[in-house]
Amino acid sequence: MDGKFHAVIGAGTGVAVAQTTGQDAIGTAVLLAAGMVASLAPDLDTAGKLANKISLSHKMIQGFVRTAGILLGGYALLALSGAAMYIGLALGVFLLLLAPKFSQRLMLLVSGIAIIAAGIALEAIWAGLAGLYVVIASIASHRGCTHSLIGLLFFGVITFYIHEQFQITGLCWTLMLAYLSHLLADMRFIPGNKRGIKLFWPLSRKAI
Ligand SMILES: [Zn+2]
Repeated sequence: MDGKFHAVIGAGTGVAVAQTTGQDAIGTAVLLAAGMVASLAPDLDTAGKLANKISLSHKMIQGFVRTAGILLGGYALLALSGAAMYIGLALGVFLLLLAPKFSQRLMLLVSGIAIIAAGIALEAIWAGLAGLYVVIASIASHRGCTHSLIGLLFFGVITFYIHEQFQITGLCWTLMLAYLSHLLADMRFIPGNKRGIKLFWPLSRKAI
């Protein structure tokens, strides 16, 4: 499926969860953005040779990396002090300005490593795991592990730690449902998806 299609479903998921949990406008906007990010995450594995043919464009991945840079830099500036602030700021500027200049796969790989480093510096387990997710996606084949139940489970662990840190109502549901929506939308029963996904990877390589 097309990246825009996934993003729209993810945003819709966030709005639906916000409605169900009775959120105000800001809460709705946060869940909308979270749903969009989670629904695009599996296609971070499109950094390889197939990059031009498939769903997530170079520009979109650049947007991802730049947004991560802004969030990281902003968080370091507002919430941290001393050495941790400077490390966070430096990594944020790196993601915002330098990483998007690299080739797609390298950009993702170094961004993932930078996010892991930030996670360690900030003692944020979720960020370390999210960075690891990006690193794995950057070296995995397209529609491989990120499009499987193992990928969903790993994303679930990241979600768990995000919830531990931020405690935002509806965020868990939004992240998990949006990620799941991506896997469903890439399955073969949807018209136009000849390729399907290897849901039970690595146990079975059969495309579903
Ligand atoms: Zn996909």
